[in-house]
Amino acid sequence: MYYRSPYLILIILSLLFSAELCANILITEVRIISKEGSVSAPSSVYIQNGLITKITKTIKPQVNDQVIDGHGRFLIPGLIDSHVHLHGVPGESEAIPDAVRSQALRQIPRSYLYFGFTSVLDLFSGDEIIKQWNKQEWAPSAYHCVGVPIPGGYPLAWIPKNKQLSSPTAAFYLFDPRQKELMASTNGSEHHKVKPLVRTIALTQAKCIKTFYEKGFGPFQNLPVPTKAMMEDLVKEAHKYDLPVFVHGNSIEAHKFAIDAGATMLVHGVWHGAESPKSEAIGRLAALSKARDVAVQPTIQVLFGEREIFNPKFFENAAVRKAMPAKLIQWYQSKAGQWFVERMAIGYGDIAKDQRTQVAKKKYSWALETVKTHTRTLLAEKAGLQFGSDTPSGPLYTQFPGFNGREEMNRWVEVGVPLLTLFKALTYRNAQLLNLENKIGSVEEGKQADLLLLKQNPLKNIEAYDSIEWLILKGKAIEREKLAAD
Ligand SMILES: [Zn+2]
Repeated sequence: MYYRSPYLILIILSLLFSAELCANILITEVRIISKEGSVSAPSSVYIQNGLITKITKTIKPQVNDQVIDGHGRFLIPGLIDSHVHLHGVPGESEAIPDAVRSQALRQIPRSYLYFGFTSVLDLFSGDEIIKQWNKQEWAPSAYHCVGVPIPGGYPLAWIPKNKQLSSPTAAFYLFDPRQKELMASTNGSEHHKVKPLVRTIALTQAKCIKTFYEKGFGPFQNLPVPTKAMMEDLVKEAHKYDLPVFVHGNSIEAHKFAIDAGATMLVHGVWHGAESPKSEAIGRLAALSKARDVAVQPTIQVLFGEREIFNPKFFENAAVRKAMPAKLIQWYQSKAGQWFVERMAIGYGDIAKDQRTQVAKKKYSWALETVKTHTRTLLAEKAGLQFGSDTPSGPLYTQFPGFNGREEMNRWVEVGVPLLTLFKALTYRNAQLLNLENKIGSVEEGKQADLLLLKQNPLKNIEAYDSIEWLILKGKAIEREKLAAD
């Protein structure tokens, strides 16, 4: 019977495919860095069906095992970035050619992996987007928070008023008795009151709630922010469902507000609202974060990446070329691709193009110094530092996936964060934040096999994170260079 043969081929193909997926991996003679930061004696690590099944001194390989020689190498868990935005291509516009866009979208998950990130947390997304993302074969595992803005506030203010509350960004907006007019434009605001809203959020796959205390910037100033009562209610209700509440805020005022309301984490460091970049108020704030056990993501790259947009040599960086396809780089450098650069330059007045770099350096120095002081004092207070890069924080190609996380790591080291603190923040601490410390974040038996094989010891130098030889993603070994854009 003729019809059988195609089925047979299909069966054989699927067997081959699954055999490849299930190939066991044996890493030999490798030094494992534990979640506490100790370095083991040379060991063998066995990986089966996506899990680390055995770690012991030596294991004899089976016939079909893929053996990776770990002699002289270091094994660490895949890195976790707990502040990304997975939608679209950074800095794109409607003028981007389809072919360039689709190539970029294919590369983006690989760029995260190239720089070692095997898990990411999107702070403002929905179940469906994350489900689609996780269907990709070579991509970090994605998780998400639900965004809870208030009507008329950040980031909804960027959307025209008549479309604001019917936009996907407003899917989980919070009822605000002060915004009756805006809420009247929707068909029912009752289910946006705290109790029903949080109950609905708890039924999604979201791991957390992200809300905002932002009075605005650029063309939008004096935006409404939640009241203390609104925030306290939200936090109280969220905690009933074990949902942490993360707050966007980058001023002293925002941090105090969020800490007082019992938020779990601030998703930015402080760069506004200090009398000077070394103000004592920053020190007091850091002490308060420690006392109330509220963690902070410094996200220094938000400012650094904005400033970099005026660096004419940005695209000469070899690491950038590993993350971005050449055709995308070409487009970014075209007139259409420079749209946001030109928009940012408006604030610089009528100056020559080659003067922008110097002006940008001056313009950002206050805010950068402030956030660096804040990060240093958090460190000195032993307050919780959580690793998140905010990739991208706006339409900025200078904050490209993977590359931006690696840059944020540099920023941490520049302000004096010890390599062990950075390593923990990139791995086990972020796994705890996601409530996934039993699954990811350390090299231990029973854990998901998301691993990086490094030529150098990341507790000795930061460049060790550039020496990734192999990346193991859910039990599948990928040579790093296969993930590069070039
Ligand atoms: Zn963000």
